[in-house]
This record gives sequence, structure tokens and C-alpha cells, in this order.
Amino acid sequence: NVLLEVNDLRAVIKDTDKEILKGVNLTINEGEIHTIMGRNGSGKSTFAKVLVGHPDYEVTKGDIVFKGENLLEMDPEERSHAGLFMSFQSPVEIPGVSNMDFLRMAYNARKKTEISPIEFFHFLLPKLEAVKMDPRFLDRNVNEGFSGGEKKRNEILQLAVLEADLAILDEIDSGLDVDALQDVAKALLGLMTPKNSILMITHYPTLLDLINKPGFVHIMQDGVIKRTGDRSLAKLVEKGGYAEISNA
Ligand code: ADP
Ligand code: MG
Ligand code: MG
Repeated sequence: NVLLEVNDLRAVIKDTDKEILKGVNLTINEGEIHTIMGRNGSGKSTFAKVLVGHPDYEVTKGDIVFKGENLLEMDPEERSHAGLFMSFQSPVEIPGVSNMDFLRMAYNARKKTEISPIEFFHFLLPKLEAVKMDPRFLDRNVNEGFSGGEKKRNEILQLAVLEADLAILDEIDSGLDVDALQDVAKALLGLMTPKNSILMITHYPTLLDLINKPGFVHIMQDGVIKRTGDRSLAKLVEKGGYAEISNA
């Protein structure tokens, strides 16, 4: 089944006529892993932010259908409730709020419910297991003093708790060493179901190799998806850079 369908999406920076997205087309089905690569400044982060409804951008043309609904008519909170999740390039620290409380609040907001701390703990245990996270993290304040890898894994735990249908991960692999990358890959694999999908933005094919599942690789260039292929396209980029792709 189709999860996300983006048709000829154009977007400008709010209150300007500077167009960043110039007609993006993308279809993501349930259970698929999609990767967007592309030069700095090609519009990857903008695309991700437009999907979640970031206020800095204004859609001027095209449409986005998510689970059969018109995403453009929803505000960012409604999009999150609908099952869209985006991890941020630099996760915030929240002093004085434990990870456990934070996750429970996020869960309550997404599910429109009031789960008790005990019930929530039981819900959380298998998720911790799935993302290979130490339960001791739950007592610590959100992201405070976490290493780069721990922050990223914490984002994935949030993703697990929210049970999002589409996770948009913008450079979740940036600044991670190989061990941390491996942990991130395992955590993501632990979460994959036949229903949910991942859209990740990266500069490196390493995370794709670690996930080691067939997937789609898209090259974004100047606000459009210029080429689509499989992991061999990522390898081509790694070897010859983006110039290689544009000329091919
Ligand atoms: P990428 O993630 O592919 O590196 P971005 O989507 O972050 O690219 O940016 C695409 C282009 O749009 C860049 O030239 C960037 O400077 C510009 N841009 C994006 N957001 C804004 C903004 N809020 N204000 C001004 N320029 C922006
Ligand atoms: Mg960038
Ligand atoms: Mg970016």
C-alpha cells in the first residue's frame, strides 16, 4: 500500500519568492526504506521540513498525500498524530525532565490518552530491547550529557514509542563513529515492521550497508529528485561524487 505520495511539490522560503523545492516527486510504500542523497544546499532538509509542516516554508504547488489524506491541510501536530516523525539534526536537551516522563508525555499526546507511569513502563520495556537501550537512560534528563550516539539512539527510542508510520531521519548518521552507526542501524532494524517506512537523508552509504536491506536511493539536485536507483547509486556517489551522477 502507498504510504506517502508527493506530486510536483514546490516550496518557497516563507514571505519570499526564493523557491527551494522545484517539483519533487516521490512515492513511498509501506515497509520501504528510502534514502535521499545530494550536495549540500540541494534542498534535502527543506524537503524533510516541508513534509512535517515547518513554518519557515510555504508550499506553492503540488500535493502530499499521507495515508490517503491531504497532508498539506494538517498542522505539524496533526501530522505527528497522523504518524509522521522527524528526527532533528541536533536533538535538544531538556533539563529537569526525565527521559521517561518526556517519552510518556509524547506518547500521551500522540495517542490522545493518559497512560499511567507503570503501564507505560511495561509498554516501554520491549521498545528499549528493540533499540538496544539501557533502561538507566530513562531516569536521565532528556539528552543531557548524552554522547552523540546516545542522542541519536534516544531519537530512535522516541520513534519507537510514537510508533510512527513514516520516520524521517535527517543525517542521523552524522558525526557517529562506526560502533555508534552500527547501534543506530540495529535500532532501526529492530523497529522495522512490514507496515512502517523510513525516509533518511545522508551523505554516506555506510548506514545503508549496515541496514543491509533493499531500498531506494534518490539523488536530489537543485530542488528536485534527479535520479532514483538502488544502493549501487549510493556507491556511485561514494566513488565519483555527484558530478558522476549528473553526467550519467
Ligand atoms: P540540504 O539539506 O540539501 O543541504 P537545505 O534544504 O538545508 O539543503 O537548503 C537548501 C537551500 O535553501 C540552501 O541554499 C539554503 O541556504 C536555503 N535555505 C533553506 N532554508 C532556508 C531559510 N529558512 N532561509 C534562507 N535560506 C534557506
Ligand atoms: Mg546540509
Ligand atoms: Mg540538510
